[in-house]
Amino acid sequence: MLQQVAEGVLVHESGFCRSNAVVVAGRDGVLLIDPGVRDSELACLADDLAGSGRAVVAGFSTHPHWDHLLWHERLGPAPRYGTAGCVAAVRARLSDEGAKARVAGMLPPELAGQVPLDLLGLVTAVPGGAEHIPWDGPRVRIVEHRAHAAGHAALLIEERGVLVAGDMLSDVLVPMLDPHGAADPIGDYLTALDRLESVAGGVGVVVPGHGSVGGADQLRERIERDRAYVLALREGRTADDPRIGPSAPTGWEWVRDVHEAQLQRLAQPAG
Ligand SMILES: [Zn+2]
Repeated sequence: MLQQVAEGVLVHESGFCRSNAVVVAGRDGVLLIDPGVRDSELACLADDLAGSGRAVVAGFSTHPHWDHLLWHERLGPAPRYGTAGCVAAVRARLSDEGAKARVAGMLPPELAGQVPLDLLGLVTAVPGGAEHIPWDGPRVRIVEHRAHAAGHAALLIEERGVLVAGDMLSDVLVPMLDPHGAADPIGDYLTALDRLESVAGGVGVVVPGHGSVGGADQLRERIERDRAYVLALREGRTADDPRIGPSAPTGWEWVRDVHEAQLQRLAQPAG
């Protein structure tokens, strides 16, 4: 079901990993950001949109990870955008013949056979590296950085005061650093948090890639919490963080393992 979070901005939360798809109403149709994960959910979303007479006129993937690159044929043939960095990463990692089988093989067991991979990763770079998504609707600013993944973008729906954060600013997931060999993943993450903070002034709603939608206070809190987490990681410490403590929500205990793995990886000598 679609929930309205601001005027003309709706969110659909997936049963998998609380993944949030975002729908932005434009003049002749909608912009669909990170559509979702399960075939049944994407079809349901397509039906909801079709039922209310709203065609998808543009798509956007916040970053080049499989769960943000999916699409369903019933969502139609709209152009699907990403940053140039996102598109380059998709080409490098997901354009060979074996890519879909590889992704299928790494899906968690509860998703086996339920994820539509036919249209995986068919993203195209925003023309001319524009700072805004080219579409006929509220201005959507692309805030690019390289925390979590190369070519990651948050989207700022300026007139609606909504920040779509991609895989940052979650209340259930700790910051996950880019595992693909970024030279300075900690520095990249801190720089990205500074960028998000610099646009936070006009934001009343934050939508993370996974987890709860929050208000302006939550946005500030989450930026601080993510920063504290990353700074502690830099020092080889574990932050006092509700997402990895005994207070972690039921079903999310594995986030602690992700954290321990990051801590260990950073403790390895470089090279
Ligand atoms: Zn991701």
